[in-house]
Amino acid sequence: MNELLRSLPQTSVLLESEHARHLVERYSRGEVLGVLREELQRIRDGLLQGSLAAPPDFTGLDFFAGLEGAIEMRRRPSLRPVINATGIIVHTNLGRARLAPEALAAIQDIGGSYSNLELDLETGERGSRHDHVEALIRELTGAEAALVVNNCAAAVLLCLTVLARDREVIASRGELIEIGGAFRLPDVIAQSGARLREVGTTNRTHPRDYEQAITAETALLLKSHTSNFRIVGFTAAPSRRQLAELAKRHGLPLMEDLGSGVLVDLAPYGLPDEPVVGDVLRDGVDLVTFSGDKLLGGPQAGIIAGRRDIISQLKKHPMLRALRVDKLSLAALEATLRLYLPPNDPIASVPVLAAITDSIAAVIARAQALARELVHLPRLDIEITENIAYAGGGSLPQEGIASYAVSLSAQGLSTETLAERLRSGSPSVTGRINQDRLLLDMRTVCESELTAIASAVQRALSG
Ligand SMILES: *Cc1c(COP(=O)(O)O)cnc(C)c1O
Repeated sequence: MNELLRSLPQTSVLLESEHARHLVERYSRGEVLGVLREELQRIRDGLLQGSLAAPPDFTGLDFFAGLEGAIEMRRRPSLRPVINATGIIVHTNLGRARLAPEALAAIQDIGGSYSNLELDLETGERGSRHDHVEALIRELTGAEAALVVNNCAAAVLLCLTVLARDREVIASRGELIEIGGAFRLPDVIAQSGARLREVGTTNRTHPRDYEQAITAETALLLKSHTSNFRIVGFTAAPSRRQLAELAKRHGLPLMEDLGSGVLVDLAPYGLPDEPVVGDVLRDGVDLVTFSGDKLLGGPQAGIIAGRRDIISQLKKHPMLRALRVDKLSLAALEATLRLYLPPNDPIASVPVLAAITDSIAAVIARAQALARELVHLPRLDIEITENIAYAGGGSLPQEGIASYAVSLSAQGLSTETLAERLRSGSPSVTGRINQDRLLLDMRTVCESELTAIASAVQRALSG
């Protein structure tokens, strides 16, 4: 064995060979050296562990073709498309909302050209990036004014900083939420320089709890949408209108962090707990914050809508410069918001909403089409099963959406390995494992992705 290992060529010798020199010309010395070292290590390990009987032919083209493949793998973009077969529609780890073609076209247009991002084309004077979508948001929510920042966390931070720095924010103990990815409301409040005044108990908070906590130090009443959990049983919370009335009586602003914040009522589609932004404002909330890339179905952004006097204060704060939205996101957001204007039908044209509202018949049809593409593969057991999809993005986990999945199990291959190969393949396909079968949910998958999934499964089966 030692002799076999000693007989392996040195990296420096291999690097001088003709094939290696071609690779160095084509790529770079550093990259060739990197993959060569890795490959030699793999061969050494293989020989020692017995998984490799003999070293490869180091003079052959095959060995260097393998190196070239390895360099190409290293050069793959780090950020890559993934086929989402998890059934979770707004999946934060998978980039949240898939954008509409109109939004993509806007990114292409604005990104590939100069734009009037901060130029008023009428007067030739300096304009504001914040003007481009404000009128649209006002139109769609009924708000007096609106402002867009980098994300909803930034929106909350900015509002709290401007309205409540060095003063008190009153919030219900039952609403001090943590959203995945380290957004914890008490921490954001602390970061803004405001002081949190918790009122009520975990399960019950009454209007009088807020009222008794109001002092000269109070700057703001804060409500937050407890989107990802539910307290059930002996519970109480003031209604929005009660809080709005209380706030008004004391001359205080009421803010609500909505998280998802939808522009159309999704109750008919199985999501009864997502408040519509316009309704919340009509109930008397002075300021709402919500994400652009959750159920709204646009790019990452944080939208603040509400009272004009407050929004104009926000626009003047120096922190806005650090939280400002970028032009590509703004372009995609404007295009997405336009899909909500009549005669457009957002349910059909915003991909997140289309996925939530897609008919079960269409989901089944995709499952059947995928099963047909897979049926000729050997060693593969295929079933079409009922499944539950989720809106995701912090919306209630109990609020499942009826769905169907193609359920796979492969002879001689563990379900974990099958899932792992699909995930790391190109394109990557992510599903869900349940009872030792891999479920590919068809609610989050487009018809145009089915053939790619079938090829990915075929490659995964053959290693
Ligand atoms: C998701 C969420 C946030 C954070 O939104 P980002 O856009 O991810 O910054 C804040 N508040 C609530 C209630 C949320 O659901």
